[in-house]
Amino acid sequence: LHIRLILVVCTFALTMTVQAEEVPPKKMKNVVLIIGDGMDDHQITIARNYLKGVKGRLNLDEMSVRASVQVLTIDEDNPTKPIYVADSANSATAMATGIVTSRGRIATSARADEDLQTIVELAHDAGFKTGLVTTSSVTDATPASFVAHINIRACESPQTMNFERRGVLVDCSRDQKANGGLGSISEQIAESDLDVVLGGGRKHFEMEQEAGEVTVEEMASASGFTVLHSKKALSDVHASERLLGLFADSHLPTKLYGEAGRVAEKPEPSLLNSIHWSLGEVELPVAMNCVDNPQYGETPSINLMTSKALDHLSLNNEIGFFLMIESASIDKQSHARNACGSIGELEQLDETLATVMAFAETHPDTLVMVTADHGQAAQLVPNQSLFSKLGIPVFTPGQLVRIKMPEGGEMAINYATNSFFAEEHTGVAIPLHANELGRPLIRTLMTQPEIFDVTRKFLGL
Ligand SMILES: [Zn+2]
Repeated sequence: LHIRLILVVCTFALTMTVQAEEVPPKKMKNVVLIIGDGMDDHQITIARNYLKGVKGRLNLDEMSVRASVQVLTIDEDNPTKPIYVADSANSATAMATGIVTSRGRIATSARADEDLQTIVELAHDAGFKTGLVTTSSVTDATPASFVAHINIRACESPQTMNFERRGVLVDCSRDQKANGGLGSISEQIAESDLDVVLGGGRKHFEMEQEAGEVTVEEMASASGFTVLHSKKALSDVHASERLLGLFADSHLPTKLYGEAGRVAEKPEPSLLNSIHWSLGEVELPVAMNCVDNPQYGETPSINLMTSKALDHLSLNNEIGFFLMIESASIDKQSHARNACGSIGELEQLDETLATVMAFAETHPDTLVMVTADHGQAAQLVPNQSLFSKLGIPVFTPGQLVRIKMPEGGEMAINYATNSFFAEEHTGVAIPLHANELGRPLIRTLMTQPEIFDVTRKFLGL
């Protein structure tokens, strides 16, 4: 009995020791925030019609949580005054910091010019890994607002901290390194704690710093980044490296463009056209196909960049990560009145979403959100005006693209925000899609800074 008692005690002690050592593994918590720049419901509808047909569904449409997000902007000189249309700098700042600011500002407050802590900085300080993937220059407004702090978005490199553009003075001299500041956006990225930064913008890293000693790219290497310039280098690199990928001089080329490089054109009413004198006739732009952009070449897709970012961020990581992925040229091609360009970049975003959702399947604590930063100019309008039989020329005062649709028929897209060479943003509320994990945190109508709150709460920051 004595021996049996000792045995029982020993077994009990052993069990206790084993139990004490069995610390449950930490659950990785991740947030992937996908931003379609300028991707309002008009841009989504146009792309869905072209890519999947009018009854088709994008990957976006399979997400279970759907909300509408009010975009907020304030006036630089009078921060109590609302402005009803945003730019990418102030809207990305709202998502990155939870604070509403004025147009053109990168994670700094309106008028007071105070630096605002970003979700990337908060997450890094709490031990999370962080990454940014974009098709724009990595120094462009959306990615910049997650990592840098500067009063004007155009201050992307040491050489562009004080210059004149279109008659306006761009002055970031307060933030110049020589004046004790954090430096230009590229310098701030080079010295950041980000684990992965992939996109374009090589030219902003090739210039020497103010001291004239090393380039910003050399500065990034010195602070621990492996700098990549090609799709092959990205495919070959080991997942453990901290990555700075710069795959184009400026923004990455788009996948699609309009046949023969055509963009929107002005309809020609008969009164203005000597060939057609019959009153009421309008010559609309000839319908076109969307075709592959020959300049795309060996550009890495958002999908490839995202796969690499996910490999890196999830490797030996028990805490989790924050990753922002941007399809930037939905917006840029809408400015340029190139509907095919915007459609191709929305397709890239949607393909990437499939990769992210597959990752979330195997890493169940991954909150996936897809949203836009602001509305854009492109409008889906009637291919033939309802008023075309009135006997007077009826036509848009804007410019039209008419696209031959893969399912048959034609789709007309109108651009009419101004007469200048570039279209402008619009002030419509933008969509937010999320996977089921977002349900307790996302309300039907939210404001843009609340996207920051959702991320912070989910990661427990
Ligand atoms: Zn824009």
